[in-house]
Amino acid sequence: MEKELKQIREEALCAVNEAKDLESLQNVSVKYIGRKGSLTLMLRNVANLPADQKPLAGKLTNILKKEIEEAIEKATEKIEADIARKAPGIDITLPGRPAYQGNLHPITKVTEEICSIFLRLGFEIAEGPEVESDYYNFEALNIPKNHPARDMQDTFYVSGDVVLRTHTSPMQARVMEKSKPPIRIIAPGKVYRCDSDHTHTPMFNQVEGLLVDENISFSDLKGILTIFVHQIFDKNVKLRFRPSFFPFTEPSAEVDIECVMCRGKGCRVCSQTGWLEILGSGMVHPYVFEKAGYEPGKYSGFAFGTGVERIAMLKYGIDDLRKFYENDIRFLGQF
Ligand SMILES: [Zn+2]
Repeated sequence: MEKELKQIREEALCAVNEAKDLESLQNVSVKYIGRKGSLTLMLRNVANLPADQKPLAGKLTNILKKEIEEAIEKATEKIEADIARKAPGIDITLPGRPAYQGNLHPITKVTEEICSIFLRLGFEIAEGPEVESDYYNFEALNIPKNHPARDMQDTFYVSGDVVLRTHTSPMQARVMEKSKPPIRIIAPGKVYRCDSDHTHTPMFNQVEGLLVDENISFSDLKGILTIFVHQIFDKNVKLRFRPSFFPFTEPSAEVDIECVMCRGKGCRVCSQTGWLEILGSGMVHPYVFEKAGYEPGKYSGFAFGTGVERIAMLKYGIDDLRKFYENDIRFLGQF
């Protein structure tokens, strides 16, 4: 028995020393101390020995088993360390990979810029639903059913009296209905029209503005909008107010700026006129005040609206509106 153990010990330790990889070590383990390994079998046989031999035989076999286990464990650690040492390490001379940093969508940036200009002028932001009732989108703004002005806007109807808002102007009606002057709000948001080409998308962004108080005149409108245009573009840009028509303002004016592409000389972008339209505006129509429940003649005010995409295109010199919504990261990352 002792002789046998000695032989197993020599063989096993020799095999451990010769093993060059983890697989050979595994085989040694199986051969000697595995479930059917020679040492395991011997340990089982201890039970059949005469009683006086059992304790010593069991003790010696267990000591050897432990010794082999430890030898295998040590050899495994050594081989693993060798593998780790030979594996390609970290090359600290390589240049780092730049972390990708996202940026705001140009439309978000321009919206925020427009809002911040008006916030500095004492306006507050008001937000409202994109799915709007016919009443707020049209009727409260002096556009009754069968009014020809409804043809000016290609409306998406959700159901008979529910539409996707075609402009941010319903916010005028909603805010006036809830609060008394003085009112100074801007309402940024998405609007929808059934239209699509290189200057129209079915969804686009507007910013609506409304200022109502006592003794507000057209010169206040001109003053505020002039400050806005000079801040969003350039303080030297020329602008003009051109008579126009909106059902919910009277008188109404469109605001044009000197073409940013040709500086007023005339080019394809401005259709050779030298001017670009950027805002619609006007004094709030008495009918709208009446619908809001205001005392007739007590208040006056002005409203205006502008397209965010239009301003972004002019600011950044972009010629196709659809680029904003194609989600090409190379395009969007430039701003
Ligand atoms: Zn031009």
